[in-house]
Amino acid sequence: MMRKKVYAAVIGGGAAGLMCALRAAERHPDKDIVILEKADRVGKKLLVTGNGRCNLSHVGANAKSYHGDGCEDLINILFEKYSPDAVIAYFNRLGLMTYSDNEGRVYPISRQASSVLDVLRMRLKGCGAEELCGVEIREIRKVKGGYEIRTDSGIISAERLVIAVGGKVDYAGRESGAGIVKTLSLSTVKCTPSLSPIKVDSEITRSLKGIRATAEVRLIHGVEIVKAERGEVQFTENALSGICIFNLSRFANQNTGCEIGISLLPDLSREEIREELQRRIELNQDGNLSDIFVGLFHKSIGNALMKSAGIKPSTACSDISDKELNALADTIADWRFKAVPRHDFQNAQVSAGGIKLSEIDARTFETKKHRGLYIIGEALDVDGDCGGYNLQFAFASGMCAGDSL
Ligand SMILES: Cc1cc2nc3c(=O)[nH]c(=O)nc-3n(C[C@H](O)[C@H](O)[C@H](O)COP(=O)(O)OP(=O)(O)OC[C@H]3O[C@@H](n4cnc5c(N)ncnc54)[C@H](O)[C@@H]3O)c2cc1C
Repeated sequence: MMRKKVYAAVIGGGAAGLMCALRAAERHPDKDIVILEKADRVGKKLLVTGNGRCNLSHVGANAKSYHGDGCEDLINILFEKYSPDAVIAYFNRLGLMTYSDNEGRVYPISRQASSVLDVLRMRLKGCGAEELCGVEIREIRKVKGGYEIRTDSGIISAERLVIAVGGKVDYAGRESGAGIVKTLSLSTVKCTPSLSPIKVDSEITRSLKGIRATAEVRLIHGVEIVKAERGEVQFTENALSGICIFNLSRFANQNTGCEIGISLLPDLSREEIREELQRRIELNQDGNLSDIFVGLFHKSIGNALMKSAGIKPSTACSDISDKELNALADTIADWRFKAVPRHDFQNAQVSAGGIKLSEIDARTFETKKHRGLYIIGEALDVDGDCGGYNLQFAFASGMCAGDSL
């Protein structure tokens, strides 16, 4: 049975944990730092981020891009020192060359997520930090002078302990049991899936499976437009997907009675859409209504729009009534889908919820209840929008705690 005494143990070898261990190892070259990872290797999730390219930060990240109770103050304090610029500059110092796309999303110039993991691991190795993988944590005990971590392969005593176990989503998009935090009696906010496709109660999406359209999407609750985004919508069997949809999913998964309104021609008013349809009908006087969408939308989208508006695609252009024309213009301007809140974490990129921010000191990420215990990354009740914000938070909180250890 292994018995180990270290200065600091970091539980979880993901983005936040690796960064934290590295900063601590740079600060204390003479002290033992160990990363305890339950998977067979560290950083597995990092490798699948950004479709394998790792969108590691966002140049414009600020408190507005994050959600969670009390997160505005936390992010403002954190980003004073660990801003996107500071995180990117640190990665550049480690040897990672980066670029930002025209939306401000930051990637490695290699366009490979493995580059991000490699520079972290290379420097960790250089600093002498140790990775212990395949470790099952059985119990964490607070003892005099620190913490005792009981694992399936032995006991590790640490003066400082960092919890960096992430949220409820693992590297394969499965629900992972972050039950470890239960043993520390810290208060938590229930986790719900975020940055996920939005399930919809509609037959229409089935016929559109695999099709994409550029649009403005709005999340509507009652009469209120909660959030609007522009981008590419992807239709799946029973859901809407795409980055713009992901950014609406947090609220849609937490509240019943939401609707998604898709505006397929967001730069035209409803009246202008009607006029454009009228013009196309006149051009196709001898044809069917389905012909008027040629050069405008995917054929299947045209058919689905007519179905939603209650019009048969075989209707002759010369036969369309005013009522039908209005219904079609309304559908193109505001195509409604009833959202169904989802509770599973499959296909969600992050989980909203986690350990309450009131448990930690925003300047160090040390818990107020247990001295020498730190919580970082997605394990906390902070989740960001899609676009590099979540990794920015994971890295920044890891840097902050690592520098405070
Ligand atoms: C498919 C996908 C793509 C994504 N793409 C992006 C992107 O491009 N940009 C972006 O900003 N965000 C992205 N995210 C979100 C981002 O990956 C996470 O927010 C971020 O990884 C959180 O970092 P973390 O270190 O807190 O947690 P994680 O990266 O989840 O790391 C936690 C680590 O702890 C380990 N662990 C958990 N429990 C235990 C335990 N009991 N004992 C020991 N180890 C444990 C896990 O195995 C894991 O290695 C994506 C997420 C997914 C799922």
